[in-house]
Amino acid sequence: MINEIWQVAYLVAAVTIVLSIKWLSSPASARNGVRAGQIGMLFAIIGTLLRHEVVSFEWIAAGLVIGSGIGVPLAYLMPMTSVPQLTALSHAFGAFAAALVGTAEYYHRAPTGFPMVALVVETLLGYLTATASVMAFGKLQEIIPTRPLTYKGQNFVNVSLLAAAIGLAVWEVQGGAPWWAFPAFSGLSLLFGVLLILPIGGGDMPTVIALLNSYAGMAAAAMGFALNNRLLIIAGALNASSGFILSVIMCKAMNRSFTNVLFGAFGQVQESGPAKTSDKPFRSASPEDAASILLNARKVVIVPGYGMAVAQAQHKIRELTDMLTKRGVDVQFAIHPVAGRMPGHMNVLLAEADIPYDRLHEMEDINPEFIETDVALVIGANDVVNPAARHDTASPIYGMPILDVDKAQTVMVIKRSMNPGFAGIDNELYYDDRTLMLFGDAKQFVADIVKELPTAA
Ligand code: NDP
Repeated sequence: MINEIWQVAYLVAAVTIVLSIKWLSSPASARNGVRAGQIGMLFAIIGTLLRHEVVSFEWIAAGLVIGSGIGVPLAYLMPMTSVPQLTALSHAFGAFAAALVGTAEYYHRAPTGFPMVALVVETLLGYLTATASVMAFGKLQEIIPTRPLTYKGQNFVNVSLLAAAIGLAVWEVQGGAPWWAFPAFSGLSLLFGVLLILPIGGGDMPTVIALLNSYAGMAAAAMGFALNNRLLIIAGALNASSGFILSVIMCKAMNRSFTNVLFGAFGQVQESGPAKTSDKPFRSASPEDAASILLNARKVVIVPGYGMAVAQAQHKIRELTDMLTKRGVDVQFAIHPVAGRMPGHMNVLLAEADIPYDRLHEMEDINPEFIETDVALVIGANDVVNPAARHDTASPIYGMPILDVDKAQTVMVIKRSMNPGFAGIDNELYYDDRTLMLFGDAKQFVADIVKELPTAA
């Protein structure tokens, strides 16, 4: 009877996890997707606890208390702007757990044949994903430099290291490997994860995180083969494929190939040190000027970026949108696929402020419209509107498709200073004749424009 119950629990878990991924693909159904994912995990845990293989419930209870003690405060304390770092950390925990299970299985059961192949794949991917994800966390949290860190012969060192780890894994599978082979294999896998991320710049971090998600999924699927657990195979494969598809979509959006993302910085010695901003003149304006320009426009396109998330300006932006719309101005939103710090970041915040989905336009759809736009209002966005990406072959963001705000009649940029954005580079848009800089915190500045609206004409 118990045997049937856990199988049914696993079936329910598999179906809800598939539905969860399907629903997460649209902002309209994403909340249901999250709930389905939670239900799926609950059934997976119940099913696992009912299986006969459980040896000690005390250890499981201790793990539950420690895991919840770390996970629950992390989820509540990390601000919305740090969700990408949180995602990187959860990949690190998941992958490390898979690698530890692999290590325990190696010493406990020492499998042979196909389960041993699955075990070394699980352990290799688990360990390298764990350290690579911690490094990605460090870069996103800016604990370690976000710029690519390169040195001569880096490519050779990394490939040799990976080849040595794979060599040891093959030795383990063939049998007869000495006692030190498995610890050495684990150590090399951990080290490879660190070295893999060093040469990758902060601008490519979103794609790398999606890719690490995929690796963590593959580690879990391999663990499923090693332990003969079908649910792990299904959930791991779904995780691996959705992470991979997301990274393909992001590579396309940033005009990068995988090799470019992973090995782009190899061989080039990148400049380090703080980014310089230009001494060129620029024009700035007050909330009153901005209100008057907006009121005289027929069409306004708002371009949100990371600064909107930091300032939590979305509700004030909603107010501004409503007031301008009432006064006959056509207000639309342009969403860059990597604006903010995670895929869908802007969509989530604008949905929270109840800005209707039909006003949100993807980059390819809105770009041809900037030419007939009176005002492009850039709110806390920087890299995603930097024209250097189109023509400056020396720029680290060269080739990344951008929102063509510089084609609008007037560009107004709300930010606090002339400081660069995530990629650490100056933005020539700010020195353009058509651009007005609106200095201040995004939420406060938008509120000040709103205050000026009824009187400005
Ligand atoms: P950027 O990081 O390029 O620029 C954000 C700008 O917001 C800064 O220049 C900053 O200027 C301004 N800002 C910060 N706080 C405030 C505030 N309180 N009020 C007003 N302005 C503020 O953001 P973008 O969205 O343009 O680009 C995203 C970047 O992040 C890209 O390089 C992308 O590759 C990268 N990235 C994206 C991820 C994703 O998945 N979306 C994940 C990881 C990285 P100032 O300090 O002067 O105010």
